[in-house]
Amino acid sequence: MPLRKLLMTAIFAAPLISVSCQENAIKTAEPIAAEANASKDAATRIQRTPRATVAALKRHETVQAAFADIESHRQENIETLIELTEIPAPPFKEDKRGQHLSKLFKAAGIDDVKIDEVGNVIARRAGTKGTRTVAIVAHIDTVFPIETEVKVRKDGDTYYAPGIGDNTQGVVLMLSLVKAMQAQNIETEADILFIGNVGEEGLGDLRGVKHLYREGAEPIDSMIAIDGGGNGGLVYGAVGSYRYRVTFKGRGGHSWGDFGAANPHHALARAIENFAQLAPEVTSEGERSSFSVGRIGGGTSVNSIPFESWMEVDMRSGEVAKIDAIDAIFKKAMQDGLDEENAARKHGPELSVEIKSVGLRPAGKGDPNSPLVQHAIAAMESFDLQPRLGISSTDANIPISLGKPAITIGRGGISRGAHGLDESWEDKDSHVAIQIALLTLLAEAGFVEP
Ligand SMILES: [Zn+2]
Repeated sequence: MPLRKLLMTAIFAAPLISVSCQENAIKTAEPIAAEANASKDAATRIQRTPRATVAALKRHETVQAAFADIESHRQENIETLIELTEIPAPPFKEDKRGQHLSKLFKAAGIDDVKIDEVGNVIARRAGTKGTRTVAIVAHIDTVFPIETEVKVRKDGDTYYAPGIGDNTQGVVLMLSLVKAMQAQNIETEADILFIGNVGEEGLGDLRGVKHLYREGAEPIDSMIAIDGGGNGGLVYGAVGSYRYRVTFKGRGGHSWGDFGAANPHHALARAIENFAQLAPEVTSEGERSSFSVGRIGGGTSVNSIPFESWMEVDMRSGEVAKIDAIDAIFKKAMQDGLDEENAARKHGPELSVEIKSVGLRPAGKGDPNSPLVQHAIAAMESFDLQPRLGISSTDANIPISLGKPAITIGRGGISRGAHGLDESWEDKDSHVAIQIALLTLLAEAGFVEP
């Protein structure tokens, strides 16, 4: 049956989807807005509902053939997973893994592959119209220092090595998609960029995706990030985080001889006290948000007034206004702590404070009713999976904070112990996540019927 006919049939047959979610998910018992409108209009014009689009795609013989290809990649994918995992890739040192990925993209049949200024590996698959660009991204960095032992150990269907699940399997998923699309000559209307991006983890601070969305960059209309274990995870909103290193500085001195001089540790303590007193005004109600002083240091000896006192601070929220409100309280608390300690001193010079940003992941609400989110939900439901909608801190933060469509979906299999040396990934139904990603990608990029 031609796709258009399939779609029409599916529209009239499709009941309204209602999203059922877990605790952290959006709470909506309402039918999806796009679905409701589409059903109303269906009698007068062709309107694809998310579920109908995905159902028709899934039935199409070309997509079915691609699904079979994906299932046949199992052994090959494991070999690629081991190859890539055994190339260390901490943030800022992803170049070797990136070069290898570039070769793998070319071997999979994409000619247009480049590595950009920051190290993102970008493989372009041209669309028939080329008026839109859809990016599918998986971060190639891991949290582990370069000297970490990354040799893969196998036990049954479980593979052990730091970084194997998070996010090397995400990269493998992306390669499997490319291979299946190439094998079946699948065409899309939009250009697709397959991207192994750098700098997702820790102090990488999303620098890879930030670069993709920098001012003057080639526009990306929507983005699907692959990260997180399992199959049903669907991140549609961005938990932002601001991180700082604060340093109070003074002349220091002898605890007895210089008593009465301003003390940086005392200033830091006053500043934390101010912050901890006032920040709960923001965090105690409304959208979830948090703050924490994670590390403290400085000082010379027990009988010295220190010349330096430092701390590292992390604050988070899914709502821009809230994280900005915590941030404002934080900065005032630091200044007040400084002023209080300076005012209390009996002699000697004033202290100073330096507040340095060491991380900024912007927050953003995201739109659970956007076609991209709805297509991903429909794709997961078509495999009888219950999507777990939620907000998190992922590569999708950047486009979401800019108001652009973006989601993060799971890499499949079973991930355990991420960010630990005993990390493992179990090859259980891993083809399902790849098939879900294919459906979501084709719905977003516009499948062109052969
Ligand atoms: Zn990750």
